[in-house]
Amino acid sequence: MSSIAEKFGINQALQDLGLNVDQVNNGTSTGQEWFSNGEVIESYSPVDGALIGKVKSTTREDYDRVIETASKAFKTWRTMPSPQRGEIVRKFNEELRRLKEPLGKLVSYEMGKSYQEGLGEVQEMIDICDFAVGLSRQLHGLTMHSERPGHRMYEQYHPLGIVGIISAFNFPVAVWSWNTALAWVCGDVCVWKGSEKTPLTSVACQNIAARVFNDAGLPEGISCLITGDYRVGEMLSKDERVPLISATGSIRMGKIVAQAVAARLGKSLLELGGNNAIIVTPDANIKNTVIGAVFGAVGTCGQRCTSTRRLIVHEDVYDKVKDAIVAAYKQLRIGNPLDENNHVGPLIDKDAVKNYQAALDKVVEEGGKVIVEGGVLEGEGYESGCYVKPAIAEAQNEYEIVQHETFAPVLYLMKYSGDIENALALQNGVKQGLSSAIMTNNLREAERFLSVEGSDCGIANVNIGTSGAEIGGAFGGEKETGGGRESGSDAWKIYMRRQTNTINYTTELPLAQGIKFDL
Ligand code: NAD
Repeated sequence: MSSIAEKFGINQALQDLGLNVDQVNNGTSTGQEWFSNGEVIESYSPVDGALIGKVKSTTREDYDRVIETASKAFKTWRTMPSPQRGEIVRKFNEELRRLKEPLGKLVSYEMGKSYQEGLGEVQEMIDICDFAVGLSRQLHGLTMHSERPGHRMYEQYHPLGIVGIISAFNFPVAVWSWNTALAWVCGDVCVWKGSEKTPLTSVACQNIAARVFNDAGLPEGISCLITGDYRVGEMLSKDERVPLISATGSIRMGKIVAQAVAARLGKSLLELGGNNAIIVTPDANIKNTVIGAVFGAVGTCGQRCTSTRRLIVHEDVYDKVKDAIVAAYKQLRIGNPLDENNHVGPLIDKDAVKNYQAALDKVVEEGGKVIVEGGVLEGEGYESGCYVKPAIAEAQNEYEIVQHETFAPVLYLMKYSGDIENALALQNGVKQGLSSAIMTNNLREAERFLSVEGSDCGIANVNIGTSGAEIGGAFGGEKETGGGRESGSDAWKIYMRRQTNTINYTTELPLAQGIKFDL
């Protein structure tokens, strides 16, 4: 046990979450049963490089057993009235509230985000469960007037079956619950493959869910866990027994998963990478702009899908904004994310560090100018080799590196002149379409940004940054971000199948469109 783990009570947190510290944890579960026969994944903390624990991954045989159990469980779960399913989600939520601190701590230590952000992530789980409990009494369809007399027509929603969830390392628990909380009240059963970079948090979550379902006397298979890398993800995406795949991760992964799911005419919900920009107009409040941009660019060490990657600043305020942001970067404290005095924690692993360094080399090669130097930190407190300095480069939007999402704290600064149209052309001039923001006190510009000719992203904010979102709204993005929506609003509809019903309560059989068919 490392000194940081000891100081922050990681061992206790692992025990509270039912994880084995000294033995290999099972990574395959249908609820009561835990079985895994695959290779062992070792989970190292990016915080201090220490081994946290081990998890055994899922084999093809294990996988098939999970799917068979989940298919069986669906037959029971789908017949339970939705408000009763909501009651189970409420109990699950109570457990999340009870275990918020140890789970938040584990998220922080295994993924590397700050403890506050770890707690925030668990809070998102709690919030979506609250939302789902209310939703369980509102899974409504429309009623419409039939063109035929004595007929009634309406739509209703039925559950789909097994929802396969593939999730990324950077939100190791929240994304799972965004999907499961809704899918469960909709009457679906869930099979989750978490990120192989955060396998312990996945086991911890499944422990919580399994206990709740078992205590309620429900059949196993409603919440299932499988563990492993892309090969286990492929088992899900290619499996025609799984009608919906919800996949969160890189665009590269999304393109492969989308093709596998489409090849069997399944449904996919894709939540992929972003390349998010803030437009700063001459009327912007500079102080708020700096707070929004710096938090957006360096929060979670630039590893949020909504992280701010590009700052598009009007020439009239360019120097002022640049100086203020450079000054703010000088105040940043980088180090152990469990220590609340630090602003920036580590990247997830050394591969991520390499990608960060390559991006900084590439932007210079393409003609960009680094104005806040990057670099990998070494020495005491940085032994994991995953701590880097947040960097800023002046760059052009058309540079190849700017067109790609680098999952690290690298911010590109660019200038626009003239009207808001020019800023919008830059903002929309990338293939991704997740989050966007404008900082302005000018109503005309704000409305223009939100109009049909404005931002082409799934999220468009005025006077707040790009990063973070509330669970009440539908979350997701356009273009290469994948087009999926999860979380709030009517995102629940993707987890259900729609059926149109027409009932004839007359003694005749009139045909639609006035067609006559007399026998
Ligand atoms: P990743 O694409 O490397 O992995 C994500 C998940 O996909 C993992 O569980 C992985 O095992 C699995 N996977 C990879 N290849 C697969 C394949 N061929 N078939 C099936 N499964 C496969 O992403 P990551 O590095 O874990 O996460 C970072 C990325 O996720 C960033 O691009 C970020 O923007 C994106 N992200 C998007 C959102 C969103 O809501 N839009 C949220 C979080 C993260």
